[in-house]
Amino acid sequence: ETSGRQKLIVANWKMNMSLQTITSFVEKLTLAHVRSDVVICPSFPYLFPLSELIQKFNCDVELGAQDLHWNESGAYTGEVSAKMLLEADCHYVLIGHSERRDSGETDEMISKKVKQAISSGLKPILCVGESQGQRQIGKTAEVIRKQVLLALEGIEDISSLVIAYEPVWAIGTGLSATPEQAQSVHQLIRKTIDVQYGSISESIPLLYGGSVKPENASGLSAMTDIDGALVGGASLDAESFAAIIRGF
Ligand code: PGA
Repeated sequence: ETSGRQKLIVANWKMNMSLQTITSFVEKLTLAHVRSDVVICPSFPYLFPLSELIQKFNCDVELGAQDLHWNESGAYTGEVSAKMLLEADCHYVLIGHSERRDSGETDEMISKKVKQAISSGLKPILCVGESQGQRQIGKTAEVIRKQVLLALEGIEDISSLVIAYEPVWAIGTGLSATPEQAQSVHQLIRKTIDVQYGSISESIPLLYGGSVKPENASGLSAMTDIDGALVGGASLDAESFAAIIRGF
C-alpha cells in the first residue's frame, strides 16, 4: 500500500469461545503463518491463558480487551482497570463498541475511557458507526463526525489511537458495507481528525468492521483509507480469520 500504514487485523470474540477452543485456535493460527499486525480481543478471563498460549506456540499476535473502566481502581463492582489489562499483557482495548453503546454507554463515558487508555499506555480502538435509520435519512456523516469528536474531546495525544468504523446495520448481519461505502466514511473520519489534529491523521489506522469475511477482505483492503479490519463472527474460526488476514 502507498500510505505506509501497516495493516491491522483485530478479532473481537465478544462473549464467545472456551478454554478448550482458544487452545486449538492459537495452534491453528500459528500454523497459518499469518503476517500483518494481528490482535485478539477475548473475554477478560481468557486474557491470561491466551497470553500463555501465544508464548507457548510463539504465535505472532497481540492481546486486546473488549472494554475497560475509566477509573484507576475502587468500588466499581464488575469493572476492569487499565492497569489490570496491562498486567494481563494487553496492548489494545476496544472502546465504544455498538453493543456497549446499545446497553447504555454514552459518548461521555467513551471519552473518559479513551483518555484512561491513552494515559495508561493502552492503544484504544475507538468504535463508531451509524444505524440503518441514520443512514437512510442521510445522517451518516453527521453521526460519525460527532461520535469521533465527542470521544476525543480534551485529548491531545492521539498517536496511539486506532478507529474502527462499524456501521451498526452491518454488524453480525452478513450485510457488509461495500468497499466504496466504507472508504467514503473512512475518508470522512481521516478528514475530521485532520481538521482537529493535523497531519498525524495520516498515520492513524482506520479499520472497517461489519460482516468482514474471507470473501470481502481483499475488496475492502484495496481502498486507500481502509487500513485493516475488526472482525466478529468470522474471527471465531482460525481458518476463516487467517484467510481474512491473508486477504488484507
Ligand atoms: P461481525 O462483528 O464481524 O460479526 O459483523 C463485527 C464487530 O462487531 O466488531
